Amino acid sequence: MPNWTNDLPDEMTRPGFRLVRTPPDRPLRAVATAPQLQICWTHWWTGRTRPCEKPDCEACNAGAPARAHCYLSAIDLSTHEHFIFECTAKAAGPFAEWLENYPSLRGCHFTAYRPKRRRNAPVEIHCRPIDLATINLPTPPDVIQIMAIVWHIPTSAIDLDDPDNPHPEMKTDRKTVDQMRFNPADAVSPRQTNPGNGEPS
Ligand SMILES: [Zn+2]
Repeated sequence: MPNWTNDLPDEMTRPGFRLVRTPPDRPLRAVATAPQLQICWTHWWTGRTRPCEKPDCEACNAGAPARAHCYLSAIDLSTHEHFIFECTAKAAGPFAEWLENYPSLRGCHFTAYRPKRRRNAPVEIHCRPIDLATINLPTPPDVIQIMAIVWHIPTSAIDLDDPDNPHPEMKTDRKTVDQMRFNPADAVSPRQTNPGNGEPS
């Protein structure tokens, strides 16, 4: 049920994790808190970015192109906002290079910007080390779980505790997932995140 009130709240947002893409007009500077990238194939489908749910994927079945997106938790040191950064796999090359030299992305200071300064223009990312003794990085959130919330996939559809599979794929039984997606009893809990606006980037 919605919780209505006549009083303006003291704080305009609740705790949670925003999904953040590189803005067109200014660089985004942040420090990764997650050790690894989480990568998922997605479609721009029905007006939003959705995960590919192969082999039974509505978008694939309609011939829609897919592209890989990368997700990484990071903190903006100027605002202290801890958020989920999204970029295309194409833009994320510097993170992969970083991981060739360091065991973890945690503590990687990165700048992401769009040289053409247009929405959806290609993103460039530059990484540099930061002195971890000077900052106190928060514990990273579970990015897969947060993206399940963003994508309206019930978290019960994802086996997050399988030690043999640290990168679980989403269950692809569409009927089951759709049943859970639209069944209030399986609704994800309200500690959630701001789902962002689902635009491509
Ligand atoms: Zn698909």
